[in-house]
Amino acid sequence: MPEHAHDPRGPAGRELRTPPVRDWDSWPFVGDVEPKELRAPEPEPPRNGEGDRPCEACQKPDSEYIWTDTRWRLLALPPSGLPFVCILEPRVHADGPRDLPDTMLAEMGVMLARVERAVLAVPGVERIHILRYGEGAAHLHWWFMARPTGVRQVASSLAMIWDDVLPTTPDDVWHANVATVVAALGPA
Ligand SMILES: [Zn+2]
Repeated sequence: MPEHAHDPRGPAGRELRTPPVRDWDSWPFVGDVEPKELRAPEPEPPRNGEGDRPCEACQKPDSEYIWTDTRWRLLALPPSGLPFVCILEPRVHADGPRDLPDTMLAEMGVMLARVERAVLAVPGVERIHILRYGEGAAHLHWWFMARPTGVRQVASSLAMIWDDVLPTTPDDVWHANVATVVAALGPA
């Protein structure tokens, strides 16, 4: 295996670069930055729902979700900087798309489109960022992050940071946005 695959910090262990983030339109901060120390590769800790850790998603009752059917559930995250953020999960415990049967995968494609359309119905939303990481929990979850119209700096991969930088969406607006999404999704 090439050395780089063992330790991405470089041969001396500290050859990190600083990209010109201050020139990036989407960079949320001002001032100089430098990379923090990157630890040497370490054992992977068990994620939520892995090893001895129980799966929070499997234990969560339907009442905590804004929309459910027999195979899928949609969870709205609490109010944050973006107008609406939610995650789509299969009811069955699956770590990644690789664990789902073809019938569920086909349905997953339909659900991704349904949820995207529903979140686009939120007033003032231009685009939906759809993401899947799987770093924190071992139960498949797709992120949907609503990017407001005209707020071009939130247009890319830094939207997750902007979500914590922008002022929190007021409760009444957020509740209205949830209601819009649920109505647009329609019955299960
Ligand atoms: Zn689970």
